[in-house]
Amino acid sequence: MSCLFCRIVSGEIPASKVYEDADVIAFNDINPQAPLHVLVIPKRHIATLNDVGDGDEAIVGTLVRTAAAIASEKGFAERGYRTVFNCNAEAGQTVFHIHLHLLAGRRLGWPPG
Ligand code: AMP
Ligand code: ZN
Repeated sequence: MSCLFCRIVSGEIPASKVYEDADVIAFNDINPQAPLHVLVIPKRHIATLNDVGDGDEAIVGTLVRTAAAIASEKGFAERGYRTVFNCNAEAGQTVFHIHLHLLAGRRLGWPPG
């Protein structure tokens, strides 16, 4: 299994987990870009947002709701937070297993770099 995030799902590679259920796992980003930087991923491998297909609406919704729940639990619901899916080269995707970035704890610039 070559996918880094599949190896985190299987436990082969350790991660600093903040949430896990039957369908998703959330863990701290190894190179955080904000005081809170969590990645929320499906346990099932989906390479990019382009590969989200018919029937995947529920898992994508679960990723978004999980990110919102973590933001709320960490106290950022009212202050604000950002969620981002990067897709392919120009967006800077480096790990080809979809992941929703959850960023909070500092003022985030817009437009993004
Ligand atoms: P992206 O550039 O959108 O594909 O995001 C990939 C993210 O995965 C980056 O923010 C990396 O810092 C993060 N990352 C890479 N390897 C690990 C790891 N072993 N544990 C946690 N986060 C990682
Ligand atoms: Zn994978």
